[in-house]
Amino acid sequence: MADTLFHKVWNAHAVRTLPSGQTQLFVGLHLVHEVTSPQAFDMLRQHGWRVAFPERTFATVDHIVPTSSQRRPFLDVMAEEMTVSLERNCRDFGIPFWPADHENQGIVHVIGPELGLTQPGMTIACGDSHTSTHGAFGAIAFGIGTSQVRDVLASQCLALDPLKVRRIDVDGALRHGVYAKDVILTIIRRLGVQGGVGYAYEYGGGTIDRMSVEERMTICNMSIEGGARVGYINPDDTTFAFLRGRRFAPQGAAFDRAVGWWRSMASDRHARYDDRVSMDASAIEPTVTWGINPGQSVTVTERIDGDPRDEAFAFMGFAPGDRVAGTKIDVAFIGSCTNSRLSDLEEAARIVRGHRVAKHVKALVVPGSRSISREAEARGLDRVFVDAGFEWRGAGCSMCLAMNPDRLEGRQICASSSNRNFKGRQGSPTGRTLLMSPAMVAAAAIAGEVVDVRTMLPEEVHA
Ligand code: SF4
Repeated sequence: MADTLFHKVWNAHAVRTLPSGQTQLFVGLHLVHEVTSPQAFDMLRQHGWRVAFPERTFATVDHIVPTSSQRRPFLDVMAEEMTVSLERNCRDFGIPFWPADHENQGIVHVIGPELGLTQPGMTIACGDSHTSTHGAFGAIAFGIGTSQVRDVLASQCLALDPLKVRRIDVDGALRHGVYAKDVILTIIRRLGVQGGVGYAYEYGGGTIDRMSVEERMTICNMSIEGGARVGYINPDDTTFAFLRGRRFAPQGAAFDRAVGWWRSMASDRHARYDDRVSMDASAIEPTVTWGINPGQSVTVTERIDGDPRDEAFAFMGFAPGDRVAGTKIDVAFIGSCTNSRLSDLEEAARIVRGHRVAKHVKALVVPGSRSISREAEARGLDRVFVDAGFEWRGAGCSMCLAMNPDRLEGRQICASSSNRNFKGRQGSPTGRTLLMSPAMVAAAAIAGEVVDVRTMLPEEVHA
């Protein structure tokens, strides 16, 4: 019977139905970082348990590591303590660990794919909400809490309720200056931040098919911001070309055999969905959030509409009828697992090249991994940013969640390529976040205020 990738992967990993009605689901890959794991390892020790599948578990540091200097010991005492704790836990439990000075280090959702750990047809878990990123490869990937991190460490399984599947088709050509980030912000705006509760989102259609794997990761990354626990894209030749030759991907003939199986896991043409939504990509414009959740967004040319009693207006300092364009910014942040990949940095550099960051703006670029950092430096992108007045940082989560020294102060406004604009997300309880594409952040950094990136794109690609 025709079926979706979600159900095929779910069924292939279902161990049994639990008395609660939940499914005991085997987890193919568990990614661990320093923030959500210490208590989980403590619980294992208390019970005298071992890690069930250390060869399916990989750890790195990303959330709390400083990005200005990654020399050990870190100046930040908490960062040093958490890193030491993860080092010890990985050593004691036999888990591969990539510390801040290791060539494989980076944000969990960036290094999994770039090392080829993330593969189609897998179940993947990590103690971070944006684990849905890995769905870009046709994996079913869940963000989990600390007690579930313990469960996966101890048993390699999770107890989960099955999800419904909503197919979201995006068709048509994206205009110049419109990026994957604008697509997902538009989807969340249309379907709502709670619209995906109880669903896995399957993204498809011609626009998604034409996207690079990196763009697909941006789309799947923010599924959770639309309420969907899982977001995925069926694997195709683009996926396989990305994975071929990567360190942990199957090699040689095994890779070709894997491709056959990966293809078979894609949703069938006549698969039935619980819901279907269609969108016209050509109608999407550069989009920016104005409020305190990622669904509160407008196009850069649009005026904000909404109930003036909504607390977002008072918090953000906007009123109905205002435009976000023209809003003076204090900080520009290009980074996070949503938009810190090489193509993001290249696109931002195209805007920045030959310009200077506005005097009142603090601007930083934080590559998602040491590998991206190395590649960007080999291409001279670091010089483009530094010459323009950006700070070029070490890999990490940085200002996405400000569990490290990269934080907003007071009521600063940040143009950010990250994924959450909740109150206090970037470190200051009163700090304000405007989510947008990396290219839009670059344009805002140069202009000193939110602008339409299309007015700053190099001549040859101007729409
Ligand atoms: S960049 Fe942000 S969302 Fe991504 S893993 Fe780090 S803290 Fe989580």
